Amino acid sequence: MTDSVAASDDDHALAARLATETGEMLVDLTRSSVADRRWGGLEYEGDRRAHLQIVEALAAERPDDVVLSEEGSDDPRRQGAERVWIVDPLDGSSDYGYSANWSVHIALVMDGEPVAGAVAVPGWGTTWATDPAPEPVPHDVESGVTPRIVVSRSRSRYDGMRLSQGLGADVYAVGSAGVKAMSVVRGEMDAYVHGGGLYEWDSCAPVAVARAAGLVCCHLDGSALEFNKSDPWSPGLVIARPGLVDDIVAVMFDRQY
Ligand SMILES: [Mg+2]
Repeated sequence: MTDSVAASDDDHALAARLATETGEMLVDLTRSSVADRRWGGLEYEGDRRAHLQIVEALAAERPDDVVLSEEGSDDPRRQGAERVWIVDPLDGSSDYGYSANWSVHIALVMDGEPVAGAVAVPGWGTTWATDPAPEPVPHDVESGVTPRIVVSRSRSRYDGMRLSQGLGADVYAVGSAGVKAMSVVRGEMDAYVHGGGLYEWDSCAPVAVARAAGLVCCHLDGSALEFNKSDPWSPGLVIARPGLVDDIVAVMFDRQY
């Protein structure tokens, strides 16, 4: 044991493996005969199976750690716990089975910070993790090039207007926080901006991976993110190339809630 707050190599690898394996199970489920295409059928079954697979694996491999899952009940032991896994077993569930825009989020939080994590986007055949880290993103948007910013579908009207009018950005709207964040990690977007609240399981693993790629992650007013809060709700989120953050904060700072 050391006093420093850090994940082990095994934690990075475990996050990546659980995200990938859960994503594979979810892809298989969409192809199986039990897939119920009525509203609420496949989506709920995916949520349920993915949650069970992740919590059972963490209970076996990290029995002393606590888990906060979108699909589980809140475990009071996580306040004061040294190691807490924050997971979204299926992010973007309304797209699950219908498009590539859904993901699996696994993150380990120590002392309020994500120290290891992975996001699987099975529809793109890729899992991104904290170690090995993704290719570093450029610091700035090339001069003379219009910034590309992805926003949440549910918030696209107002957030999109601000970013398009205030920054002259090209704005795209997509479901799944993990997919949006990974579109910035892989360089097809320059920033992901979410006005209003979201939950820690939406943002935690995407933030872990985005930071490993050199992106800046903060609230819409530029303040620092904190994870494993007693209330896992969290005001607005920016994940952006470092050179773009101040401009985004200047036009979005009052859109936190
Ligand atoms: Mg979910």
